[in-house]
Amino acid sequence: MNIGIIGLGLIGGSIGLDLFTHRQQTQTQIHPPLSYRILGISRKQQTCEVALKRGVVDAASVDLSLMGEADIIFICTPIAAIAPTIAELIPYLQPHTILTDVGSVKKPIVETCSQLWPNFVGGHPMAGNTETGIDAAQHHLFINKPYVITPTEHTPPESIKIVESIVNLLQAKIYHCQPEEHDRAVAWISHLPVIISGSLIAALRLEDNPDVDLLAHYFASSGFRDTSRVGGGNPELGLMMAKYNREALLRSLKSYKQTLDQITNYIEQEDWQTLDKQLNQNHCDRLKFHF
Ligand code: NAP
Repeated sequence: MNIGIIGLGLIGGSIGLDLFTHRQQTQTQIHPPLSYRILGISRKQQTCEVALKRGVVDAASVDLSLMGEADIIFICTPIAAIAPTIAELIPYLQPHTILTDVGSVKKPIVETCSQLWPNFVGGHPMAGNTETGIDAAQHHLFINKPYVITPTEHTPPESIKIVESIVNLLQAKIYHCQPEEHDRAVAWISHLPVIISGSLIAALRLEDNPDVDLLAHYFASSGFRDTSRVGGGNPELGLMMAKYNREALLRSLKSYKQTLDQITNYIEQEDWQTLDKQLNQNHCDRLKFHF
C-alpha cells in the first residue's frame, strides 16, 4: 500500500514519522512484514529533503503527480487549503484512492470534499502543539489521543476501515461521530479555549501601569503558562477555527460570557457561598474529562 501525505508540517510530519518508525520496528516481528510506502508532498523542495532525512517519508516531491501512486492520502494542509488541494489533486488520483484529512473543523470540509471526491473520510487527530512546520514534527504525538472519524451515510465503509487501520498504527483512540456533532464538541473543548486563552493574553495589554505590567511578566509561572498556552499558539489555526466553526464557536462563547457574568456578579455581591459552591462543582466536573 502507498500512503500519501500532503502538507509536511506538524501533523503531516508526525503521522509520517510514526508510520515510518512503526514499519521499521515491526519488520522483524510481524510475518508477513508490514508493507507500505510513505509518499510526501510539500510546496518546498527543502522540506522534501528534510522529510527524507528525518525519516518522515520514503519519497517526497513538490509535484502532486507523485500522489498518482497513492492508495490513501492524508491531507494535512491548513483548513483553507484542504478543498483546493483536493480539486488540484483529482487529475492524478486512481479511482480507488481514499482521501482523508486532519482538519480541526469537519462539517464544511466533509460537505465540500465528499462532493469533490466521494471516497473521502473526514478525520481529526486531537493532538498537537503550538509549533508548526516539518521541524515541529514529532514521534508519538498521537499515542492515546482521540482520533475522530466523521463518516456520513455515503462514506464507503471499506474506506473507513482502511483509515482506521492506519490510525491504529499511530496508537490513537478512535472515535466516530457526525461532522456537526464533532464541530459542536470541539467548539467547547478546543476552539473556545483558544479564544478564552487568547483573550487572557489580550486583556493583560489593558494594564495601564507599566511597572505592574513588567512585574506580571516576571511573576508569570506555571499557572499563566498553562492558561495562555493555546491562546498564544499558531494564529492561523485560531483564525481558521473561528472562520470555519463560527456558528458552534459563537454558541459556546455566548454561554461562556453568561457564566463569566454570573461569576463577576457573585464577586461584586460578595456572594462567597455561591462562588464556593460553583468552584467545588468545577473541581468535581473536571475529574469527569477523559484527558
Ligand atoms: P503546519 O505545521 O503549518 O503544517 C501545515 C503544512 O501544510 C505546512 O507545513 C505546509 O507544508 C502546508 N501548507 C501550508 N499552507 C499551504 C497551502 N496554502 N497550500 C498547501 N499546503 C500548505 O500546521 P499543522 O498544525 O500541521 O496543521 C495542519 C492541519 O492539521 C490543519 O488543517 C489543522 O486544522 C489540523 N490540526 C492541527 C492541530 C494542531 O494542534 N496544530 C491539531 C489537529 C489538527 P509544506 O511546507 O510541506 O507545503
